[in-house]
Amino acid sequence: MNKLLQFSMLKKLTISLITILLVSSPIFSKITFDFDVLDRTLKLGETVKIGITCNRKILKPTAWFAGRSWKINYVEKIGHTYHYVLYAGLSRYLEPKVYNCVLTLPLKNSSFKKTFSFDIRDGKFPYGTVALPKVKKSLANNTKQLSKESQLITSKFGSTSKHRQNKKLTSPFILPAKGNFSSEFGKHRKYKGTKKSSSKHSGLDIANVEGTEIVASHDGIVIMSESLKSHGLSIMIDHGFGIKTIYNHMSKLKVKHGDIVTQGQLIGKMGTTGISTGSHLHWGLGVQNVRVNPLYWVNTRSLYTD
Ligand SMILES: [Zn+2]
Repeated sequence: MNKLLQFSMLKKLTISLITILLVSSPIFSKITFDFDVLDRTLKLGETVKIGITCNRKILKPTAWFAGRSWKINYVEKIGHTYHYVLYAGLSRYLEPKVYNCVLTLPLKNSSFKKTFSFDIRDGKFPYGTVALPKVKKSLANNTKQLSKESQLITSKFGSTSKHRQNKKLTSPFILPAKGNFSSEFGKHRKYKGTKKSSSKHSGLDIANVEGTEIVASHDGIVIMSESLKSHGLSIMIDHGFGIKTIYNHMSKLKVKHGDIVTQGQLIGKMGTTGISTGSHLHWGLGVQNVRVNPLYWVNTRSLYTD
């Protein structure tokens, strides 16, 4: 074969290779979205999950749902596909009805919208009264202190940690302590003979003897470890993706602010500090600053990405 022929064949081969690369490159392919909606019928206290994939990078995707805006989180890029996830908590105080969830997905030169509707049903939360021992009644009547602490807790639930654990959530949250469920999430509770207003329980109470070990429900970073008058010795962990867990009424704190913890790691001991009727753990879970049923995050495998 003469050199000229060799060169022309090589040129041809190079050109066809470039053509294949260009055709298969995502820049020239159609924009494709794929949506994975966990469930269209949900109850108050559960969580909406929408997985989004796109063959383009989505710049600051957001959702509008239940009267507010929600952050859609970037998860990872696999091959040419970008993966995102929206977790939106369904407040126990939300009006049960059909809600539209509008996703805004801006790309480099265009923007897309996609709407899903969700049928949100009542949580059918039980009713109950709490009879506090005399010594705890004065704490419950200190509404100023209570609202001060509630503000602090709300701001922590809404905060974004600089050291966010943006690790993919691949496995479920675990129960942080052994014991009986003494008050379930959403339970309407009246505090007998106190000024404390009746409310729907913001978490799950797990009762056991004082000193029972309390462990981190998932990997994360400790964003609060302090002694509060009404909520007792308290810890909050940021797990990334806008998800945080809180642990109240403990007798001992075993981790401090800024500590990185792994799922199952000892973080404290059970107690009855603050407004509490006996040794128990109040365990709460927040999704983008909305308190949801933590058991849903223990039992719903499909909330997680593989
Ligand atoms: Zn509680």
